[in-house]
Amino acid sequence: MRALRLKSWKSEPVLEDLPVPDPGPGEVRVQVGAAGACHSDLHLMHDFEAGQLPWDPPFTLGHENAGWVHAVGAGVRDLEPGQPVAVVGAWGCGTCARCRDGLETYCERPDLAPVRSGGGGLGLDGGMAEFLLVPAARHVVPLPDGLDPVAAAPLTDAGLTPYHAIRRSNAKLVPGATAVVIGVGGLGHLGVQILRATTAARIVAVDAREAARDLALSSGAELALPPGEQLVDQVREFTGGVGADVVLDFVGSDDTLAAAAHCVRQLGDLTLVGIAGGTLPVSFFSLPYEASVQTTYWGNRRELAEVLDLAARGLLHAESELYTLEDAAQAYLDLRHGTVRGRAVVVP
Ligand code: NAD
Ligand code: ZN
Ligand code: ZN
Repeated sequence: MRALRLKSWKSEPVLEDLPVPDPGPGEVRVQVGAAGACHSDLHLMHDFEAGQLPWDPPFTLGHENAGWVHAVGAGVRDLEPGQPVAVVGAWGCGTCARCRDGLETYCERPDLAPVRSGGGGLGLDGGMAEFLLVPAARHVVPLPDGLDPVAAAPLTDAGLTPYHAIRRSNAKLVPGATAVVIGVGGLGHLGVQILRATTAARIVAVDAREAARDLALSSGAELALPPGEQLVDQVREFTGGVGADVVLDFVGSDDTLAAAAHCVRQLGDLTLVGIAGGTLPVSFFSLPYEASVQTTYWGNRRELAEVLDLAARGLLHAESELYTLEDAAQAYLDLRHGTVRGRAVVVP
């Protein structure tokens, strides 16, 4: 089968031929229907080097996957070949307290997991291939009626990650509250839609690209602004001078974090999702009183089922640009050059 592989740190991925993996006991082979291209993969290709992550290349990229059950290993009884599924991306040990809660992102026994703090496309072979080997049946979630793998794949990360981040601030997103979304790419445009579908907050979006600001407006933002010197004043004006209750930073550079810190309100949340590597100096007087700064990472299995439910009911829809597996490397180049609207999704 063909697979898009990251062969070494600081390199571009290459398309290779690999044997089709056979499921061992408890495992599931998924025929990939679609795999999303996440900006984190660009960080993997360009920003990391040996020793920074618990694992190293080579592995097949693609941690945002959906498809159909193709074959199951011994002992898997509740899945049928042909069944459409989304793949939960973080693969933990399955038995520690966090894993039992479905929070395999925060597995506390990574030494017992198939890979330390990773999953398919993150240390192990991912879904930018014709088939994906999933190490346990609990990592596949049946798709609700009406949702196909192409629609579902981006939801497993670009949908799930903002959903988890927004849920953490749910209590602050009351009617009349304002949420600011910085970065309206794959994650951000779904973040805007999730805010609209699950809260009554007013939504302000920020992106450097005009096309992304247009996407934000059509996704449910009331106002879409470019970054820059006027941004903080514009957010203050929009909020009657008080600032935003929740700021979600899907970029995470020095400048977006600084802007976020100036936009957030007293008692508000500044949630850092993007991993551009920026920093935010914090001192007692540098933030409004009782503003919280938090990071978030991906989401859990129950939340993925909720995200899929939103989509199946028409409340959430990933805007996607489709690529073949042969063009998957191009999808990443387009993502890097900022020409993708919504999510780049590879359909093998
Ligand atoms: P993307 O490339 O699709 O979107 C990024 C958007 O940010 C683009 O629209 C771009 O124009 C905009 N942007 C970039 N710099 C900007 C700036 N200075 N000001 C305003 N807008 C700016 O990326 P994505 O796949 O949506 O991922 C977003 C970030 O989230 C990446 O850093 C990615 O690695 C990270 N990520 C984090 C998690 C997590 O669990 N924490 C999960 C997935 C992705
Ligand atoms: Zn990702
Ligand atoms: Zn665990």
